[in-house]
Amino acid sequence: MMEMIEKDRQGMVLRIERSSIHDGDGFRTVVFLKGCPLRCQWCSTPESQSFKIEETAENTYGTVMTVDDVMREVRKDSMFFFISGGGMTLSGGEILAQPEFSLALLKNARRECIDTAVETAFYGPWKNIAAMLPYINTVYADVKLFDRERHKQFCGVYNDTILENLLATNQAEGDFRLVVRVPVIPGINDSGEELERIGEFGRRLKKMDHMQLLPYHRLGTATYKKLGRPYLLEEVKSPSAEHMARCRELVGKYVDHVI
Ligand code: SF4
Repeated sequence: MMEMIEKDRQGMVLRIERSSIHDGDGFRTVVFLKGCPLRCQWCSTPESQSFKIEETAENTYGTVMTVDDVMREVRKDSMFFFISGGGMTLSGGEILAQPEFSLALLKNARRECIDTAVETAFYGPWKNIAAMLPYINTVYADVKLFDRERHKQFCGVYNDTILENLLATNQAEGDFRLVVRVPVIPGINDSGEELERIGEFGRRLKKMDHMQLLPYHRLGTATYKKLGRPYLLEEVKSPSAEHMARCRELVGKYVDHVI
């Protein structure tokens, strides 16, 4: 019997970007969901955090769409997905904050033989992740900080759930690919001790394909002003290529494949 897929289910979408080459393999159509329970101080998409539609003088952030609406957009690039090895990437905000909507999108894409990736902070109930994994080709999950108290300080929540979800994913059946991403934020998570703890944790994830260290950047800071919110990391500069190489070296003491 054909599995029921909820095409009319509604979700809050921030925007849909086509032809991205930064959010997975090949050309991707990235569906950014709106709403996130974290408050990372370096977040480059502050407009993705609130679960409500937000308006500024120039922009409206957020729109309610059905699964069918989203898939109609995604389908437009099916040919490019096929040629480039790309597909649909669900991103945020946090995809686990809208679990039924995310699951329905993933099921629809896979039914149409579209490759699927998710970019997630991995902050949500394990049962929701477990339900999604069979429909995901690549999971990009963040480890932002290993230190629990500093995670709370800089991201607004403790990291226990995130780390537990990563360990549970490591045990899960399935042929999905797991990539762990670490945003490198100077002065916040780039000390030798912190990076070594992240590396040690990564070593426990046998299922992990590789770890990606991503340099902090200041894109999106203008949006804080538009939304009337303070940007708390004004003084932080992007790390140099040499510094990133040193960070990769530290993590690479524990993890075989770090990029
Ligand atoms: S998890 Fe992502 S979207 Fe949410 S606040 Fe952090 S950086 Fe922003």
